[in-house]
Amino acid sequence: MMEGRVEEIRHNYDAVQEQVADAILKYRNRGDSVKVIVVSKRKSVEVISAAMQAGIDTFGENYPEEAAEKMDQLGPEQPTWHMIGHIQSRKAGIVAARFGMVHSVDTFRIAEKLDHARLAGASPLPILLECNVSGEESKFGLPAQQRNRWPAILELARQVAALPSVVIVGLMTMPPWSEDPEFARPYFAKLRQLRDWIQEEDPRFILPHLSMGTSGDYIAAIKEGATMVRIGTAILGSRIQLNEEK
Ligand SMILES: *Cc1c(COP(=O)(O)O)cnc(C)c1O
Repeated sequence: MMEGRVEEIRHNYDAVQEQVADAILKYRNRGDSVKVIVVSKRKSVEVISAAMQAGIDTFGENYPEEAAEKMDQLGPEQPTWHMIGHIQSRKAGIVAARFGMVHSVDTFRIAEKLDHARLAGASPLPILLECNVSGEESKFGLPAQQRNRWPAILELARQVAALPSVVIVGLMTMPPWSEDPEFARPYFAKLRQLRDWIQEEDPRFILPHLSMGTSGDYIAAIKEGATMVRIGTAILGSRIQLNEEK
């Protein structure tokens, strides 16, 4: 049973990596790389263990407490954990102490909380600013649909840059859902344009990372410059309740 699960995950992961490599070859520059973050929200620690056996080293989680519980259950052999979900300020301590990167910073207040909570002596926490490039109201993220909102993002980035224990390394977005894999492409392009604009306006910013693309649209995201894709169902299968999949 366990072996079967490892094989299935390995098969899915290899297939995604092959698609990623193919897309880089076709649409990007030589030497570009795209990191696959495997999204394990609502997946049990057994599934995560199997995924680690299948060679996966980086996981994305949305809920700090759920993630911390899984980290504790896993024991000393830990993969790298990325926080990709909305962060409530009272959970910032867990996130700052236990995650290697945060994709979902969308207020100065959260950046400040993460900065305060980062343990003394730890390296600065790499963070991404989550931007809402579609204007969709149900989405988190800094308003970025209209260009006249961009200066406010630059201003926030400058404030965050003054914090000693966090460092902005790029931008993240979650476009509106669609069945069409190419639908989100203009939103991905917009995130890249926003990143380029910030770097031009203030060359002190070095923002190599664009976290964009999920199971349904990661090829479109790679076409538009993604350096990290966040993939759940295409690798770990559909999300069912934790206690159903032991
Ligand atoms: C759940 C989630 C994903 C993964 O979505 P899949 O469709 O399962 O690949 C990626 N990013 C965020 C922010 C998510 O919440």
